[in-house]
Amino acid sequence: MPAYDADNIFAKIIAGDIPSHKVYEDEDTLAFMDVMPQSRGHTLVIPKSGSRNLIDADPEVLSDLIQKVQIVAHAVNRALSPDGMVVKQFNETPAGQTVFHLHFHIIPVFEGQPMGRHADGEMADQDELAALAEEIRAAFE
Ligand code: 5GP
Repeated sequence: MPAYDADNIFAKIIAGDIPSHKVYEDEDTLAFMDVMPQSRGHTLVIPKSGSRNLIDADPEVLSDLIQKVQIVAHAVNRALSPDGMVVKQFNETPAGQTVFHLHFHIIPVFEGQPMGRHADGEMADQDELAALAEEIRAAFE
């Protein structure tokens, strides 16, 4: 597996070099809206430290991260009241990974609404993402 390359879009989001609609941030973690959402409220949770994916991640980073995934999932659940939620994570291109900085997807599922395709190039409306991020931010306790 190739080494982590810090020249990726999520590293730029962490550095603040490109914008994102953030829902959660702490010393080690960032969560923000996916720009090509598979459903309303599709959120990404990433560690600030660099690894390509789960395979090369530091186990301590991983164990902290999955707890943050749960915290963010609770907020998404409270904010949007989906009927279910998919949490997923891809490792390397053949498995579907397109951005090579570890991240977990939180994808709300709404009964009767089929989930969109993964990273299909369909950019969401920025105002809509901003409004969703605000709703989710307000749902943290
Ligand atoms: P992967 O395919 O690596 O599991 O997921 C990468 C995810 O990042 C995709 O769902 C894609 O829509 C999302 N994504 C790609 N580029 C950007 C970006 O610049 N900003 C945000 N917020 N999400 C992105």
